Amino acid sequence: MVLSINKSYKPEIAAPAGNPEKLEIAVKYGADAVYFGGKKFNLRSGSGNFSADEIDKGLQTCKKAGVKTIFLMNSFLHEKDINKVKDYIKQIKDYKFSAIMISDPGMLLLLKESGIKTDLHLSTQMSTLNHLSVKFWTDAGIKRIVLARETTLDEIKSIREHTDAEIEIFCHGALCISYSGRCLLSRFLSGRDANQGSCTHPCRWNYALIEEKREGNHLEIIEHATGTEILSSKDLNLIDVLPYYIAAGVNAFKIEGRMKSIYYTANTTRIYKHAMNTITDNNDYIKYLPFYLSELDLVSHRPYTNDLFNEFNNLGFNKIPYIKKVLFLGYALSRGKDETEAYIKIFNPVYLNEELDVIYPIKNTEIKDCKTTIKEITDDDKKESVNMARPGKIYLVKFDKAIDSDAILRRRLPDK
Ligand code: SF4
Repeated sequence: MVLSINKSYKPEIAAPAGNPEKLEIAVKYGADAVYFGGKKFNLRSGSGNFSADEIDKGLQTCKKAGVKTIFLMNSFLHEKDINKVKDYIKQIKDYKFSAIMISDPGMLLLLKESGIKTDLHLSTQMSTLNHLSVKFWTDAGIKRIVLARETTLDEIKSIREHTDAEIEIFCHGALCISYSGRCLLSRFLSGRDANQGSCTHPCRWNYALIEEKREGNHLEIIEHATGTEILSSKDLNLIDVLPYYIAAGVNAFKIEGRMKSIYYTANTTRIYKHAMNTITDNNDYIKYLPFYLSELDLVSHRPYTNDLFNEFNNLGFNKIPYIKKVLFLGYALSRGKDETEAYIKIFNPVYLNEELDVIYPIKNTEIKDCKTTIKEITDDDKKESVNMARPGKIYLVKFDKAIDSDAILRRRLPDK
């Protein structure tokens, strides 16, 4: 791989922060920027999102850690929304976000009218695919454009040649089968509008054909042995082609997934951040690539693609079912009375004497991930030893080795 990458140039990794807990983890695990929404007008109404107090706290956490904050106001506005947006802008106007992300030009006008001074980013939802569109939006006051996921590598290079505007692309996560989010399937089939942040992902449902005179007789459309998802897309994963996109001049890489787990946020963030460092600082990227690929395989995903447009001659169909090789169990909140104990917030049951994986943020080149065995579990409320830690509670857990306060626990699942 011979690419010209300016060593002083380090694009940002923007991590998803679906709720305050995920924001804390994204910061711990190496995000340069986090993106999150308030309770209204962002495109993930199903993620926890942030109340006013939580925004305050999140901003403080990020300021302390030197992490940028991108606040999402990227839903599309109907007539009935306009006065509500004006009120909402008054509520959020004084927060010191690094940037606000919008999609709807109406939102842009309302923010400008309010006199807000925050930088503005344009969401991928606006399907920006060429340098003239980039110019249009920068002339309108936008600082950074998140290009459409449909933009090819050559198009990114051409856009870079024509403009100094900041450009961002998605590097990881779910894709739409339509132009990003511009789709009415969900509104049509479940009454929940993707353009208002409520997509139910019907493009991933299983479909069958029915011949009109044979009602109830569902005919399989065989694409692979385990089912048919005629609309479903793979998930994006650019880790093994990341240097090409850095060399093309992308300023920021966004990881999709505000609705995904804390574990997903932590692991994808640390891997992309470490890859960014090894690509731009030294030549270790190729050495670490197998580790990156194997860790990204250990977050839940559909089959990955790095190649939406066959730019890397890597198209081809393989089976679409969800791939899940590990189960996220919980994360450490703080140490116990010695270095082998930690208070763990539990998300899935954890059992006495079982052996688990622990992963950690990657600091420089030190990968501390390891296996550990559970030696004791204490119910912190009842102060009694138990055989199983239950989801939704905090337990004091003793391990067979030292555990740090930023550990995440996971269990390997048997091969299916
Ligand atoms: S239904 Fe599928 S293609 Fe449509 S917006 Fe939702 S995820 Fe995207």
